[in-house]
Amino acid sequence: MTIEKSQILNWLNSCADIFAKERDYLTQLDADIGDADHGINMNRGFERVKDKITTIEDQDIGTIFKTTGMTLLSSVGGASGPLYGTFFIRAAAAGNGKQSIDLNDLCQIFSDGVDGVVARGKAQPGDKTMCDVWWTVVEALEKSKDEGQDLQQALVAMGEASEKGAAATIEMQAKKGRASYLGERSIGHQDPGATSSMMMVKALRDVVVG
Ligand code: ADP
Ligand code: MG
Ligand code: MG
Repeated sequence: MTIEKSQILNWLNSCADIFAKERDYLTQLDADIGDADHGINMNRGFERVKDKITTIEDQDIGTIFKTTGMTLLSSVGGASGPLYGTFFIRAAAAGNGKQSIDLNDLCQIFSDGVDGVVARGKAQPGDKTMCDVWWTVVEALEKSKDEGQDLQQALVAMGEASEKGAAATIEMQAKKGRASYLGERSIGHQDPGATSSMMMVKALRDVVVG
């Protein structure tokens, strides 16, 4: 079983719908420990992505991710635009020339993506960022690969891992981004970027597993 390009396009469109729906919730999370714009940023960015991908539907998965990244980079300000932009631009390499991806590819795509975010933002595990979700997700995908799970099982495990990764940020003290200005007062709140990352991961699971 593989993830088809049409499902990747559905995923990106689904992210746009989710961020439109969850805009106020994500913004509220960011109001607690940041500057109350994360939902607005994600909503704006993925609306642009949704418009843009209609023009590149016939391209390969790598090109679709690269275009997604460039669109986020150019339409979202703040920390999350460049970070998610870099995520997709780096993720694109493992999708180059492909019309479908398997579990190995997906693992590589997310692993390269989070490496790109780290190259740019220097987050370490436990810093209370979106990376805490992506690392948990990549670890779960690696485990599924090692255990010989099929794609369906791996995606279900991946979704659960993303929820755990996001929830784990509640007890963390922010060491990166605006939330770090709060010091210990950042503890007790779920990180907005970790939450939007979890939403993206679960959206992919839902598109493919149904
Ligand atoms: P801004 O903080 O500029 O307003 P957003 O509110 O859109 O941008 O995004 C904030 C999110 O960005 C945080 O919740 C965190 O997950 C993520 N973030 C901030 N700085 C970093 C970093 N250096 N590395 C990884 N993620 C980061
Ligand atoms: Mg913000
Ligand atoms: Mg901001």
